[in-house]
Amino acid sequence: MGMNIVILGPQGSGKGTQSEMLANKYNLLHVETGKILREIASSNEPMADEIRRTMLEGKLVSDVVLEAVIGQVMKDNRKNGIVFDGTPRNEGQYDLIKRLLKNRNEKIDRFIVIEISETETIKRLTSRLTCKNCGNVYNTLTKPPTGNVCECGGELVVRDDDSLESIKKRLQVYHEMTAKVISLAKNENILYEINGERPIEEIFNDIVRVIEN
Ligand code: AMP
Repeated sequence: MGMNIVILGPQGSGKGTQSEMLANKYNLLHVETGKILREIASSNEPMADEIRRTMLEGKLVSDVVLEAVIGQVMKDNRKNGIVFDGTPRNEGQYDLIKRLLKNRNEKIDRFIVIEISETETIKRLTSRLTCKNCGNVYNTLTKPPTGNVCECGGELVVRDDDSLESIKKRLQVYHEMTAKVISLAKNENILYEINGERPIEEIFNDIVRVIEN
């Protein structure tokens, strides 16, 4: 039976980095909705324009779009479980994930929230660089790239939605929507809150402890 983990946190909390490390350690499928949606937004698919606009405004894409995206990636899963990175962000998505997992006689095993303050989010996101080619993320303060390019050789850019205005909107949406989901997870006794204003390895060790206990 699979081990399914949700990792949530405000923008810049390091959830992407931690999810990647978890996926490697336990051989899990890393489902990063933000990344998948950015890929669709920059493609020629019919949904691209609408998704791009929604993302620029810092709003959530519709539950219908999200279900299509998640349903598709879960289909090919041959790993030991899934890390849901950045989903569920509202109650509908929470029910969706539970339903998709229930179809396979599985459930959300751990619901981990990485916490950082608003000041820290703004500091981290305004210094974030993303690779145009592979999506790798760097930070001029905490994880500077060597030279001014990505490991893969790709060009590093500031994400369209990492402007101060978009960041503030995304934070507001995050707090409004996810508060409800977090309280649901708490009621189901699967919630673990972790302080994200510490070194990457320390946070990772805490998450591993939560998973292995
Ligand atoms: P992120 O990279 O996680 O900050 O996500 C970037 C943007 O993608 C968000 O501002 C949303 O517009 C969209 N997005 C990512 N994940 C979700 C989700 N689970 N539900 C709806 N929209 C999402």
